[in-house]
Amino acid sequence: MIPARFEYARASSLDEAISLLSSREDPKLLAGGHSLIPAMKLRVARPATLIDIGRLSDLSYVREDGDAVAIGALTRHHDVANSDALHELSPIASYAAGEIGDPMVRHMGTIGGSVAHGDPAGDMPTVLLALDATFVATGPTGSRQIAAKDFFTSLFETALQPNEVLTEIRVPKTAGRGWSYIKFNRRAQDWAIVGVAALNGSAPAIALTNMGLTPLRATAVETALAGGADAAAAAASAAEGTAPPDDAFASAEYRRELAKVLVRRAIEQSMS
Ligand code: FAD
Repeated sequence: MIPARFEYARASSLDEAISLLSSREDPKLLAGGHSLIPAMKLRVARPATLIDIGRLSDLSYVREDGDAVAIGALTRHHDVANSDALHELSPIASYAAGEIGDPMVRHMGTIGGSVAHGDPAGDMPTVLLALDATFVATGPTGSRQIAAKDFFTSLFETALQPNEVLTEIRVPKTAGRGWSYIKFNRRAQDWAIVGVAALNGSAPAIALTNMGLTPLRATAVETALAGGADAAAAAASAAEGTAPPDDAFASAEYRRELAKVLVRRAIEQSMS
């Protein structure tokens, strides 16, 4: 389908993007366009103005920064997947970026777009939730940091304010922690029917893709692991507190059973 009529403005700086967000009617930021444009073609999204931030190259970087790795929001999935800093310091993040879609999607889509879109089927939101990442939002009065656990508020909804741009994702270094991201799909390059991110260590972290309105932490599994349960016993509570979708790809019941299997495998992989 053809999108509804819209105005287009290209921002040449972050300040200009923020100012356009405040001055234009019903605006939406355009980054890689790989979620927004399909939604506009389906007329699920009908913004009056598109503010193109896709060429703000100063928001495209991956660099070590203290005890974190800082990733600019405009960094393409391809560059996240191939970042030496992430391979060394937070490898689950670069691995998961390489699992997104196909090469075309990874060369256009951005990590910031993936996070801001708030799709519970997205791979990076789940991994960033497991990592306890921090998101930096910048608006007219400056920047603020939002913890991943407070960021994803509902289906396609986040804690970002309408006049804020997500500018940076801060990923803790995971040195020494075993990890796994398992994405289950029927065809290579499809979205996850269910996905599981696992990080071991003194406080094991398990997060789920496509098991509710937002990416979810599997807190019952984490509590069981912290209490000394083995992978199989802990994974038995993987579906607790979830509300998976029932759609053309899988029933909710199938997803609940699948989550238990994938959580067990992800825990085992993260410990091996
Ligand atoms: P856009 O589409 O430009 O924007 C998405 C939303 O985020 C919009 O509402 C926009 O206003 C907002 N936004 C963008 N950037 C910012 C910012 N910096 N600050 C505030 N708001 C912002 N994703 C997966 O996780 N796994 C997959 O397997 C997968 N497969 C795909 C397959 C296909 C064929 C396609 C088309 C997409 C797929 N995707 C998948 C989605 C892809 O990862 C998108 O790139 C991503 O979801 C959105 O990033 P974007 O840069 O394209 O954002």
